[in-house]
Amino acid sequence: MRAAPWFSPRLLEAAGSHPGLLPGRITACHGSSWQVAGEEGSFLGEVAGKLTREREGSLALPLTGDEVLFAPGEGGGAVRIEEILPRTSLFHRRGGEGEGRQGIAANLDKVFLCMSCNRDFSLRRLERYLALAYDSGAEPLVVLTKTDLAEDLPALIREVEGVAPGVPILETSAFAPGSWRLLDEALKPGMTGALLGSSGVGKSTLLNCLLGEEAMSTGTIREDGRGRHTTSARELFFLPGRRALMDTPGLRALGMDGVDLDQVFQEIHELGRQCRYRDCSHQGEPGCAVAEALAEGRLSRERLESYLKLVQEEAYLDLDSREILRKKQERMYKDFQGKRNARKFVKGKGKGHE
Ligand code: GDP
Ligand code: ZN
Repeated sequence: MRAAPWFSPRLLEAAGSHPGLLPGRITACHGSSWQVAGEEGSFLGEVAGKLTREREGSLALPLTGDEVLFAPGEGGGAVRIEEILPRTSLFHRRGGEGEGRQGIAANLDKVFLCMSCNRDFSLRRLERYLALAYDSGAEPLVVLTKTDLAEDLPALIREVEGVAPGVPILETSAFAPGSWRLLDEALKPGMTGALLGSSGVGKSTLLNCLLGEEAMSTGTIREDGRGRHTTSARELFFLPGRRALMDTPGLRALGMDGVDLDQVFQEIHELGRQCRYRDCSHQGEPGCAVAEALAEGRLSRERLESYLKLVQEEAYLDLDSREILRKKQERMYKDFQGKRNARKFVKGKGKGHE
């Protein structure tokens, strides 16, 4: 059931102290106009000039999920978005050089990281999703979709637990009627959630179940799990019980950005604290506890590789990190030189003893 929009107490309070302005929630972005859900209905909105003057960059503009105050449109025209309330969480990616951060969605409490049990199953991708979620400030949950297609579901769950310790795992299937209720129960009154995951994993199907209607077009369910590709609207829907849920695009569209890798790769982070150098890059430096754990089989090579790959991606995106990497390389070089000199010294000494 698509429910009427609801507004948080802080938004109602803000509206109360701004006579003439109405409370609204951004449900979709269409480039330079926005869809605003208000008490009286859904309106097309544009932004007041002051918004872009007061704040810089794309984060100054409304995002799906934003809580706003708007002025009614004149003569049935577009409403004017005058204020954006401070965001309680923010999904964003970094644009090209000099572009700064690009917002994706705001004010999410929970993100459902959807991954299907067939071809889409990828622990490496899950790690990326987790990193994004932790960075946004929203609580992540893993949704294993299409469990009907899993050959060994318990094994998949163990694998997920391995990369996402302590994160709730919800199992759903269109063939297990009611399994979508796990999401329904996780989204508490007053919360806004988002479905995150690759195209085709079954996000729209879940959303439809939660809405109890065909809110978005889904292909028919095929036993091989290969549905036709449906596009993601990144739209916010209101659910009964003062809740809201958003469909979001796949990770490729989101990009990686300044995410908290330490939280996702806790075991590497823990090991890293025992490395000789505080900012060891675990790439061949002396006294590296990570390399030691790898050699002793306490750490999987795959896990370390995906960590290093993400670190490199981050470093590429982040100039400061690039500087840090450069310093690390310098130090490794010095250490290498040092060892060579030491060998020379030992050799020289050895000769002296002959
Ligand atoms: P989205 O792109 O993530 O929104 O994915 P959709 O919800 O559009 O689903 C993609 C395809 O997978 C469609 O053909 C669905 O019918 C199918 N599908 C969705 N859920 C399940 C499921 O639990 N099991 C199986 N076998 N197929 C499913
Ligand atoms: Zn190290």
